[in-house]
Amino acid sequence: MNSTHQDYEEAVPPEPGAADAVSTFLTGTPPFHTPAAPRGNVAAFLRRHFPGAGMRQWNDWRWQLANRIQTPERIGSMLRLSTEEQAALTGTGQGLPFAVTPYYASLLEPLDPTQGLRRCVIPVCAEWRPAPGECADPLAEDHDSPVPGVVHRYPDRCLFLVTDFCSTYCRYCTRSRSVGHGARDQRGRWQAGLDYIAATPQVRDVLLSGGDPLTLEDAALDWLLTRLRAIPHVEVVRIGTKVPAVLPQRVTPGLVRMLHRHHPLWMSLHFAHPDELTPESAKACARLADAGIPLGSQTVLLAGVNDDPGVMTRLFQGLLRQRVRPYYLYQCDPVPGTGHFRTPVSRGLEIMAALRGHTSGYAVPNFVIDAPGGGGKIPLLPNYVSGREGQDLLLTNYQGRSFRYPDTAGHPDPAQ
Ligand code: SF4
Repeated sequence: MNSTHQDYEEAVPPEPGAADAVSTFLTGTPPFHTPAAPRGNVAAFLRRHFPGAGMRQWNDWRWQLANRIQTPERIGSMLRLSTEEQAALTGTGQGLPFAVTPYYASLLEPLDPTQGLRRCVIPVCAEWRPAPGECADPLAEDHDSPVPGVVHRYPDRCLFLVTDFCSTYCRYCTRSRSVGHGARDQRGRWQAGLDYIAATPQVRDVLLSGGDPLTLEDAALDWLLTRLRAIPHVEVVRIGTKVPAVLPQRVTPGLVRMLHRHHPLWMSLHFAHPDELTPESAKACARLADAGIPLGSQTVLLAGVNDDPGVMTRLFQGLLRQRVRPYYLYQCDPVPGTGHFRTPVSRGLEIMAALRGHTSGYAVPNFVIDAPGGGGKIPLLPNYVSGREGQDLLLTNYQGRSFRYPDTAGHPDPAQ
């Protein structure tokens, strides 16, 4: 038994108990205000679907990985599948695989196929319907890949795709062309990426992504971070992950102790809906934040999941409570099979207008389109500048009221 496992076990209550007791334990102290996510009773869920397993197993991330739900029969025993879901699950074989951790499955509404979280992870037949403009590699990452696993587009930073594995597959994944088909540990291809980064002095910032880098074992991640840290021009390492939302048990004291040795380290956490803000995810975020890792979030705008100002406000305010700064809200990329998730761009602008001024600026992310063809992230803002009259800039505030700003610098008064 390694130390990470021991750390987690030390923290597990001695007796399997009710979900409330587990949640209270996981929440820890000091208390924080967690919105009431529609949690089922974890103990009852375990008894029903994993007889013989207890809370010790539930809180073990390796158990969660080993017991992922990957077949129509298994998920069908937990959810009343709609005709659409049933057909998509039995017809899937190509493309993005289906997998959900037991933890995330416990958050799904058994009777409601329209639940946001369920739409995120349970396939439907709409995935088979092509929509105009879709492309397997919409961001042209393969074009900007100097060696397998590295995408170098921006001058001073690069993306290092260190695994194709995720614990849970999001049906709208931008990298659905590549994720889910390789082994969890793809160390064999890391050396080429490390060699490229070491030989490219303008790279001062490396973003580890995939797949989900936090599904790697501590030792593998430590090995990789140590080698990156040994490259003098790599100033910052970032990790993109959905683990706190789908596999929060992975964030063990051993993991954060290891990560703490590799500062400056930043993290981008992928959250889609406020129902993901459970006591368990809050605990995972707290452990990362306590290790001094600045946390930002990334969210994809998804029709029928989060394309609503109220839902987005709950998500972003909840993330702030979990010490995660909302960073990016993405317009959904035109990936094949995601037409049913895409909203008009105007919907995203409406949501931004509903956020700005109505809640603290820290809770307002940047709304961006990742430009098809590899143009990078382009920010979009509601229009707050309505024109100019002489030296005055005409502005509209968040309430729709008009104001003038004396923009005299660089604009001499024509009357003088
Ligand atoms: S966690 Fe990220 S990489 Fe994995 S399936 Fe979801 S969006 Fe794709």
